[in-house]
Amino acid sequence: MDLHHRQTLQQLDAAHHLHPFNDNAALAKKGTRILTKGEGVYVWDAEGNQLLDAFAGLWCVNVGYGRKELGAVAAKQMEQLAYYNSFFSCTTEPTVQLSAKLAELTPGDLNHAFFTNSGSEANDTILRLVRHFWAVQDQPMKNIIIGRHNGYHGSTVAGASLGGMKGMHKQGGLPIPDIHHIDPPFWFSDGGDLSPEEYGLVAARRLEDKILELGPERVAAFIGEPIMGAIGVWIPPMSYWPEIERICRKYDVLLIADEVICGFGRTGEWFGQQYFGFQADIMPIAKGLSSGYIPIGAVMFNDRVAGVLKEKGGELAHGYTYSGHPVCAAVALENIRILQDEKIVETCKNDTAPYLAKKWAQLGEHPLVGEARIVGMVGALELVPAKPARTNFEDRGKVGVTCRDHALNQGLILRATYDSMLLSPPLVISKAQIDEMAEKAWKALDLTARELGMATGR
Ligand SMILES: *Cc1c(COP(=O)(O)O)cnc(C)c1O
Repeated sequence: MDLHHRQTLQQLDAAHHLHPFNDNAALAKKGTRILTKGEGVYVWDAEGNQLLDAFAGLWCVNVGYGRKELGAVAAKQMEQLAYYNSFFSCTTEPTVQLSAKLAELTPGDLNHAFFTNSGSEANDTILRLVRHFWAVQDQPMKNIIIGRHNGYHGSTVAGASLGGMKGMHKQGGLPIPDIHHIDPPFWFSDGGDLSPEEYGLVAARRLEDKILELGPERVAAFIGEPIMGAIGVWIPPMSYWPEIERICRKYDVLLIADEVICGFGRTGEWFGQQYFGFQADIMPIAKGLSSGYIPIGAVMFNDRVAGVLKEKGGELAHGYTYSGHPVCAAVALENIRILQDEKIVETCKNDTAPYLAKKWAQLGEHPLVGEARIVGMVGALELVPAKPARTNFEDRGKVGVTCRDHALNQGLILRATYDSMLLSPPLVISKAQIDEMAEKAWKALDLTARELGMATGR
């Protein structure tokens, strides 16, 4: 793209486009980066830079960029039937096929799909239908949902309320009533002298304490991400989720696993629950469902919850114009077909993810890295002022941004959340591309360390 055209677009963007999760005044001054092309694990910007996208867009481009099949099914469906709703006792073939496919693919008896356009909407749907589930069983007071501080469940009113991001709560008067939060499991800064497995049980029992404090007759559900993504890929100890499941069963609290990031292969299993060994009653999905090619999300309900909603729920006073959109459903189906036919999840689990884990552990040896954590194709490097202490920088977030910018200058996209460098590449990343990522990340760490006057790795 020529310079003049790029600058015109940047000016128009600054004048007319409010960017989510940005300081828009600062961004307008700096100028946005315009992305123009994607192929495999790479994207190109308007200046012609080729960037290895080790974040898969926003945790979502699981099959990689530039898959023509996905465009082809979208075009075909648009030509044949671009839209019809699922309100008026109607449906379309791709929507039906996708529901059945999801029932087959998802763990346990999560056999019933409610379609949305995003993960946030899926969590809005959950908030309303969970309360409705208890209300129609004569327990309208069982309406509290417990989430976790620093959890992320999207950005709508319900999503942001269920999440535990203080900065989000501040804008718009959240959380809404009858949502509570417990402390999340993050051994690195919270585990003290406990082993991770001991700590996992301690962290899970915070849920039991909260349920007993509120009264089990008040608590409708617990929601959590199997791995907490947005806050910095906080991976719980293996003891955490089975204990959470035990507690939920004991008090008849519905268990919601927000698999918007973990779903569709991110952990090397199809779903995060399979990695951690637990079974949810309700599961929101989005992102990897369509590999980000088109907006679509869904809530998967198990037989019990869907059964009550069907038998006692009456008319559901809830839905979206685009619930079960045929074009989105067709794209999601084709995306799942690609994941299955090309054995992308299995290849990750058995081949590329173990290789990535080795490379990631090597990055963990850099003097700036206090912890290198990873599961499957999702990980983080925790940047610290001094090893081996599990303590972050005092001025949280500055070093992370520095490192992110150095990575970008090397042609590598990593995300920084505070001082965690986050990794979530397309699942199709090859070993050679993993090598490229690791080399560039090491270089970025070195340049960051040098800037801080710290020792470099080599
Ligand atoms: C991204 C995300 C959401 C929100 O999805 P959107 O499609 O952005 O609305 C919800 N939950 C988790 C765990 C997420 O990572």
